[in-house]
Amino acid sequence: MVSCETLPVSTNFVEPSQSPLSLLLRGKDTDLQSERGVSCPGEMPAASDPDLVERAKKAKAQLGNRVFILGHHYQRDEVIQFADVTGDSFKLAQKAADSPESEFIVFCGVHFMAESADILTSENQKVILPDLQAGCSMADMANAKQVDDAWSEFEKLGIADDIIPITYMNSTAAIKAFTGRNGGTVCTSSNAKRAMSWAFAQKSKIFFLPDQHLGRNTAVLDLGLSLDDCVVWDQTKPLGGQTPESLKAAKVILWKGHCSVHGRFSKQNVIDVRNEIPGVNVLVHPECKHEVVSNADYVGSTEKIIQVLSDAPAGTKWAIGTELNLVRRLANQFKDKQITYLDKTVCYCSTMNRIDLPHLVWILEALADGRIHNVITVDEQVSKDAKVALDRMLDLPATTAPLD
Ligand code: SF4
Repeated sequence: MVSCETLPVSTNFVEPSQSPLSLLLRGKDTDLQSERGVSCPGEMPAASDPDLVERAKKAKAQLGNRVFILGHHYQRDEVIQFADVTGDSFKLAQKAADSPESEFIVFCGVHFMAESADILTSENQKVILPDLQAGCSMADMANAKQVDDAWSEFEKLGIADDIIPITYMNSTAAIKAFTGRNGGTVCTSSNAKRAMSWAFAQKSKIFFLPDQHLGRNTAVLDLGLSLDDCVVWDQTKPLGGQTPESLKAAKVILWKGHCSVHGRFSKQNVIDVRNEIPGVNVLVHPECKHEVVSNADYVGSTEKIIQVLSDAPAGTKWAIGTELNLVRRLANQFKDKQITYLDKTVCYCSTMNRIDLPHLVWILEALADGRIHNVITVDEQVSKDAKVALDRMLDLPATTAPLD
């Protein structure tokens, strides 16, 4: 996702009313159903303010137990230092569900994570996203209408009754609600294998949203299915670009979505790093393409990546395929190991990076002053249906093993 300020002015600009997914100008034509077009009201502290760290500490201390800060592993160091809990989306969903009775949950992550936290926390708690433009390009690749349309096609083909839908945590609340209504569950990269095994114990097919790579990698590398057992549903094409026969034969129907950060890693990156660093271990996230994951030495969620590096003997060499903020933090933390980024070019998650110290200070100081900004509130019915799917996930036995 590209921040709106960097967009060139174009005479080909499509008016917001013409396309449900067009970018909206910041501060104008705000779409309250998404992060598009939103801006932060009031004065934002300057990024150059040398007192930002002290200001954040002071505001957080003033708020005491009234505020609980969750920080995703891909957040900047300047933000993560203020998190009460850090984790991947699975761990943070659990922490939100078990959170202390703090009035305010400040979620330093992206929009879909804050939505899940709102669904899982109590009614008297408010979930706050420091910058409403912190969305997720993968989550934006599946909207409710597209998914409902796909399901209608499955019903017409007579295969809907054979399918359990599973949506990755990285999806909107509306998609989680669809999954809850249709007997499915949410999964994360920590528990995708368990979720798919649970689904196959009940029915013969899975509809996996929105990350095709996590779905394919789990089906093939964890569950032993073949690549031919998986087909991709392209939401831009009639019947998803498939035939009735291919959909009837498929065991896993993968939504055509991907992560713009993990999708950058290639098989060539793996080949290059092995040539450049003899003896290197390649450790990647399962949102990477199948060609990357199947050529890596280890695969796992962010929590698993941290655990593997923590357990690795001193002197070992590692090339890591996940978001750069985390890789850089791990390289600083485990100085007795050689840790490098798998890609030659640098790529942060631009939307995760939107949460910076000025936004956090702005939110915390406003709360301490009795003003509440950027509350994430999910529609009541959507929340109810999505909670069914999230609760099913939280009831799955947890596993952090990558490919066990
Ligand atoms: S790293 Fe990928 S999946 Fe995660 S928030 Fe960024 S774009 Fe979305």
